[in-house]
Amino acid sequence: MANQRTILHVDMDAFFAAVEQRDNPTLRGKPVAVGGSAESRGVVAAASYEARRYGIRSAMPTAEAQQRCPQLILVAPDHTKYRRVSGQIMALLAEYTPLVEQVSVDEAFLDVTGSLRLHGSATHIGQQIRQRISQDFQLTASVGIGSNKFVAKLASEQAKPDGLLEIKLGEVAQSPCSAASCCPVGSGRGDCG
Ligand SMILES: [Mg+2]
Repeated sequence: MANQRTILHVDMDAFFAAVEQRDNPTLRGKPVAVGGSAESRGVVAAASYEARRYGIRSAMPTAEAQQRCPQLILVAPDHTKYRRVSGQIMALLAEYTPLVEQVSVDEAFLDVTGSLRLHGSATHIGQQIRQRISQDFQLTASVGIGSNKFVAKLASEQAKPDGLLEIKLGEVAQSPCSAASCCPVGSGRGDCG
């Protein structure tokens, strides 16, 4: 397949919560939610994996999250800090391909079709990115690999947390987005699904 493309979806794991746990050791290993207070009708912007065990998810009202987990540690978001860390991570990703499409503060699609000869296989690129994010930022990212953005995102979702998964062509039975033209990187259509 001459027109076969290789797309990586790099998605930080529990990004805001992971940054807070990294920067404050007393939060590590504990249920942490980043978000607004229950008094101000706030919602959870990110939950640590420890908090997710209680069923706490992004966009859940903080009041409900605190009901589910009374020992939940609520941290006010520091978006300036998240944007700074995000910028550093995006700069790292840009070392692997000029075709980086940032979809949010903590995720991006990389079209590495033209980078494979220089950087090796997509799996190798993905593992290297994960390793460097871990070493340089003490954070974990999950990477999904596929022939289009939809499949790559599906793969990263299944790889989470702290994993890598490649879904090869043919393993996707009936994806609604299986055409090679689906959501090309740079089209501005972040969410394919
Ligand atoms: Mg994420």
